[in-house]
Amino acid sequence: MMAHLDVVTAERADWNLDPFVLNEDDEYYYGRGTIDDKAMGAIFIANLIRFKREGYVPDRDFVVALTSDEESGGSNGIGWLLENHPGLIQGALAINEGGYGLLQDGQPLANTIQIAEKIYATFRVTAKNPGGHSSLPRDDNAIYDLAEALLNIRDFKFPVELNDVMRVSFQRQAEINTGERAADFRALLETPIPQDSLDRLSAEAAINAQLRTTAVATLLEGGHAPNALPQSAVANVNVRMLPGSDPQEVLATLIAVVDNPDLLVEYRGGGSITDPSPLSEEIMSAVETVTEAMWPGTTVMPTMSTGATDGARMRRAGIPTYGTSGLFVDRNDMRIHGQDERLLKESLYGGYEFLYSLAKELSE
Ligand SMILES: [Zn+2]
Repeated sequence: MMAHLDVVTAERADWNLDPFVLNEDDEYYYGRGTIDDKAMGAIFIANLIRFKREGYVPDRDFVVALTSDEESGGSNGIGWLLENHPGLIQGALAINEGGYGLLQDGQPLANTIQIAEKIYATFRVTAKNPGGHSSLPRDDNAIYDLAEALLNIRDFKFPVELNDVMRVSFQRQAEINTGERAADFRALLETPIPQDSLDRLSAEAAINAQLRTTAVATLLEGGHAPNALPQSAVANVNVRMLPGSDPQEVLATLIAVVDNPDLLVEYRGGGSITDPSPLSEEIMSAVETVTEAMWPGTTVMPTMSTGATDGARMRRAGIPTYGTSGLFVDRNDMRIHGQDERLLKESLYGGYEFLYSLAKELSE
């Protein structure tokens, strides 16, 4: 059972409440980390105490790892543990953050279990030019060349690739949606995928990111004086690769998309290259059993996170890792890493029960 104690930063001025003080009203707890990820950390410890008080003896060991540094890449947290004390956290499987219950209009819609993560990768595109006096402009110009390359990247879509996890995920998406949207999710399982369904789903950022590797310009730097032709222009391109991707193949694709041999495209490094955790019967049936008992009729949906968690390093170390919390959040108002992060009080106690029962289900 793993949770990270560090949080992503927050600016006091951006919030309505102090992000670093736990505030509450009748319905919610507010504060940076309430969802990501202090609730799970608190729940794991509370449940260990509860098991101990009950004299409960599981038929497998329970290990809780509370880590630091997750939000900055994990090298000082889970990475350090795996490198220096692998025996302390060697488990048959791990329960981690990354999966939530989804509420729609206050009603449970799905309980997700994160089985895969996209892989963070940094690329850089550089345009160089001899420059000159800005009173004598020419068509060749580092800023314009770079701008064209970036627009090519904007207009390019990586091909759709669905692994087993995503096929099950979209099947369940079809079950919790209705009408054309449900049909569109079902269409994703056809070969070839009907174009109109694909276009409609690709227009939604959250769905598009589940279908394919994505690349987007995130930082820009160029020129050296207001009255000089630019001698260089550089852009950072943030890529989120599908699990199992090869950064060198992505690099070759980006070079082709940029389509200008004078520009330099480079791979600058990224996260662990991982495959999805197996959709094992053991974990799926345990999560389904507890979900059905607590929230009857709620679909259990395997997911791939578009962001990264400590789960990537665990999977890379060969420990199948599953993101599931039973913490229900409004699917249209998640607030993770956002302003006024909050967690429903009812959800905290729901997650406490869910993770308690899940641990027992997995050890009997
Ligand atoms: Zn987190």
